[in-house]
Amino acid sequence: MGYDFLVVGAGIVGLTIALELKKSFGGSVCVIDKENRIGAHGSGRNSGVLHAGIYYKPGTLKARLCVSGNRLMREYCEEKGIRGIKGKVIVTKNEREVETLLELEKRARANGADVKIVDEKELREIEPYARTVHRALYSPNTVVIDPQEVLARLLEDAAACGIEVRFGVKLAALDQKEAVTTAGRIGYGFLVNAAGAYADRIAHMCGLGKNYTMLPYKGIYLRVKEGYEFLVRANIYPVPDIRFPFLGVHFTRTPHGVVKMGPTAIPALSRENYGLLENIRCSELRETLLYNARQFATNKNYVLMGFKEIGKYIPYVMYKDARQLVPSLKYSYISRYPLVGIRAQLFDRTKNELVMDYLILKGDNSIHILNAVSPAFTSSLAFAQYVVNLYFYGTGSRASVKPGL
Ligand SMILES: Cc1cc2nc3c(=O)[nH]c(=O)nc-3n(C[C@H](O)[C@H](O)[C@H](O)COP(=O)(O)OP(=O)(O)OC[C@H]3O[C@@H](n4cnc5c(N)ncnc54)[C@H](O)[C@@H]3O)c2cc1C
Repeated sequence: MGYDFLVVGAGIVGLTIALELKKSFGGSVCVIDKENRIGAHGSGRNSGVLHAGIYYKPGTLKARLCVSGNRLMREYCEEKGIRGIKGKVIVTKNEREVETLLELEKRARANGADVKIVDEKELREIEPYARTVHRALYSPNTVVIDPQEVLARLLEDAAACGIEVRFGVKLAALDQKEAVTTAGRIGYGFLVNAAGAYADRIAHMCGLGKNYTMLPYKGIYLRVKEGYEFLVRANIYPVPDIRFPFLGVHFTRTPHGVVKMGPTAIPALSRENYGLLENIRCSELRETLLYNARQFATNKNYVLMGFKEIGKYIPYVMYKDARQLVPSLKYSYISRYPLVGIRAQLFDRTKNELVMDYLILKGDNSIHILNAVSPAFTSSLAFAQYVVNLYFYGTGSRASVKPGL
């Protein structure tokens, strides 16, 4: 059994790249995923926000692909009849944050995102219960969708164009041009590693990216109880600490009318450690403890951030943080929410720091997507085009490409 293209991982990144490969080259495309269903990890366990391109340093891949990805994904959702909730405000908690807010406005404009600074009166018209100090940033193109709905439509598209998606098939090793999987050996001409939290391990099998390890950060959510959702019309975000790749606890109204609060960014014990002690694996635990300790020892800001985040395991602590954005929120208005996600955040062992941008590593007949963290869901359609162009058209013309077996 063999395919022209074998994609490992049926998350948003793997599915969109598979579709782009099929569109560009035809041929046989197979996607494998170790789980028995779509969206079991990052792509099905996120906030569902199509980001507008505000936060990211101009020139980075995140910045370059978020605005176009947002537009492409909004168009895709419209075409497929997927509902979305539009609009977002970023509010300040104190005078000091105004400076960062203005930096975000600058970044957004440089990235081509549509944003507007609003005053307190204008903010009240957009989000009547949100509080800010002097100014807030309004983004009309931020949209909340249901990520599971998007995945389901992409899966249908994949089936319709003849892509084979095989669930319950785990890649264990690579041997020449064959993937050794739990369903036997699968031959391939070209391999795409889109394995999310395990993408570093697969890159290592190809001798690539040995200095990188995935560090997991757990995102826990709470919700505003039924009857109090009027407090949030769409999205209310804080000004984040832009030294870290996390956006802070925010309010998001889903298309199903639920108002979520979260997510946290708590260092997790393993890559799929969704519950308190669930899925703890020794080798992952060792890495997580070691590299978190190394950052704790050398980076004062990381210590502060880490302790603040760990505290949010306690709902009251998370509530107190969120209440600064919406002061009318009472503790009795919130309850638990069953969604937990884990960010597969890449860590550079040589530099002892978190990698801020997406990272794509090229092998001889493979490509490896590392650090597909937020906003990779938003960017995915643009990202898939970028990856295919980079690998197959980066240095040559379409005619010179021979991706098949
Ligand atoms: C809490 C949270 C909130 C977020 N919010 C947003 C947001 O609002 N907007 C946004 O744009 N992004 C957001 N993100 C980021 C977004 O979810 C991810 O960037 C995106 O889902 C990454 O997709 P992926 O396909 O790379 O990974 P995944 O969805 O994790 O897919 C990887 C797949 O690979 C499979 N796999 C792994 N190893 C193997 C193997 N050996 N063999 C076979 N299969 C394997 C896994 O089973 C998995 O299905 C958020 C993430 C989190 C965790």
